[in-house]
Amino acid sequence: MFIEIEGLKDKPRRVQHVFPVDEIPFQHEDAWLDSPVAVDFKLTPDGRELRVRGKMETSVRCRCSRCAKEFARPVVAEFDLSYTPQPDWGGGASEVELEYGDMDVGYYDGVSFDVNTMALEQIELAMPMQYVCRDNCKGLCYRCGADLNEGSCSCEEEPDARLSALLQWRERRAGG
Ligand SMILES: [Zn+2]
Ligand SMILES: [Zn+2]
Repeated sequence: MFIEIEGLKDKPRRVQHVFPVDEIPFQHEDAWLDSPVAVDFKLTPDGRELRVRGKMETSVRCRCSRCAKEFARPVVAEFDLSYTPQPDWGGGASEVELEYGDMDVGYYDGVSFDVNTMALEQIELAMPMQYVCRDNCKGLCYRCGADLNEGSCSCEEEPDARLSALLQWRERRAGG
């Protein structure tokens, strides 16, 4: 979905759109878009500068990095972005890159605003670094692969015994 900036004639435009999952190129090894991506924002042109303020909502299905179970979680982002026409990359490119990193300003081609790309960026920004089904997920036993959320496995005793031996040794050392 593209919005022609000239067509706005400097008037703000409210955009409400729901993208089917296959229109957003979200590509992650262990996460998939689970529901359509809804955006609702106001696009305010100021000459060729744009201000884009609103909300994005969808949900993703992820594989837990600890227990490998799949789970779905909502992904919601509120944003307030500024876009400026892509500068001429001919000279001073490093200066421009620095500016891009420091400020919350994005670039567009100066002609039309690409809503799909903006929606994708918002999903990416809202994704966690690690997908964990719940904070206290115990994960899988590294030896037998049992799901420790469903109870302990028979391997569990040994590492504990080793750990307590280590603690005893440290205590002895600390005690002198
Ligand atoms: Zn888990
Ligand atoms: Zn085990």
